[in-house]
Amino acid sequence: KRRPIVGGNWKCNPATASSLDELCRNFDGVAPYLEKCDVYVCPSNLHVALVKDNFTPGVHVAPQNCNFKGCGAYTGEMSVDQIQDLGLGWVLIGHSERRGEFGLPTPAESNQLMATKLQYILDQGLNCVFCIGEPLSIRQKGIQAIVPILKALEDKSRVVIAYEPVWAIGTGVAATPEQAQETHKGIRDWIAANVDRATADAIRIQYGGSANAGNAPELSSFPDIDGFLVGGASLKPEISDIVKAIA
Ligand code: 13P
Repeated sequence: KRRPIVGGNWKCNPATASSLDELCRNFDGVAPYLEKCDVYVCPSNLHVALVKDNFTPGVHVAPQNCNFKGCGAYTGEMSVDQIQDLGLGWVLIGHSERRGEFGLPTPAESNQLMATKLQYILDQGLNCVFCIGEPLSIRQKGIQAIVPILKALEDKSRVVIAYEPVWAIGTGVAATPEQAQETHKGIRDWIAANVDRATADAIRIQYGGSANAGNAPELSSFPDIDGFLVGGASLKPEISDIVKAIA
């Protein structure tokens, strides 16, 4: 049985540092479930250092991106060294809002570049949440995104896949549990066929896209859904109900 994992992605929120404490306190309710479930939060990069010690102990703070070069002349970037220096053990990469899948003609973060980045992160010793997800028109895209990361997936305890169908993000229309299960199982079977069954069985796959306290219980009951990556609802106290549903 895989250990469930729930992440809160605050994206580019909140607008004021003075509201950070309130958002952190929303996670206090997850404390009873941390024995059974991993929980992480992705604050905006500017806020990571401000909040990292302000969560209930056991909640991980994971930046929303990092580079694959280290420190140096990389304007606007963050390095793994800087993340580790803050005492953080996780990073999230490849979110569709960074890959440019909301309309940019050329995704800034291609599948190949993301694979390079993932391997770099693992080599440096960090754990990684690797986001994939397809626009409605290209349902197979999720699989395409994991083709270049096969080798990295062998590091199965340190990589988590977050499947986030682009059409479900921020729309209030989550994938149905059957749709999510079908895709998660498809990803797992594909890993089994292309790496091995043990890796496929060990890799945790989170669902993201309008997950909330209302739909989490049913989604949680499906065997290949190992947790959630939550956007909007992670800014509210209901995040603890989402964790409770899967823990
Ligand atoms: P919402 O939960 O707001 O749909 O966002 C999902 C997401 O993109 C999390 O990374």
